[in-house]
Amino acid sequence: MFILQSIEQLEKAIIKAKKTRTQVKFIKFGVYAVSGSNGFYTVKCERGAHGEKIVNCECLGASKGLVCYHAASALALHVGLARQRQAA
Ligand SMILES: [Zn+2]
Repeated sequence: MFILQSIEQLEKAIIKAKKTRTQVKFIKFGVYAVSGSNGFYTVKCERGAHGEKIVNCECLGASKGLVCYHAASALALHVGLARQRQAA
C-alpha cells in the first residue's frame, strides 16, 4: 500500500495504464477490480485516521510500496466518484 500525497505520484503509472488498456470494474465505492497481467487485482481506496488517502492493491509492486498502474487506474475512477458524492 501507499499513501497518496499528490497526483504527480501517479503520472508514470497512468501512462502505463493507458498503454496496457487497463480495465477497471466498480465493486463498491472505494473497492475496484483492475485488470493486470495475471487477471484482476482488487484495489481499495480509503481514508486513514488523519485523513490521509490510503491506496491498497494486491499486486507485488504495491506490497513493496510502489505506485502501481492498477492503483492509478482505480484512483482515476474513485476520484471522479468521490467528487460526484460531494456534489450530491
Ligand atoms: Zn497493483
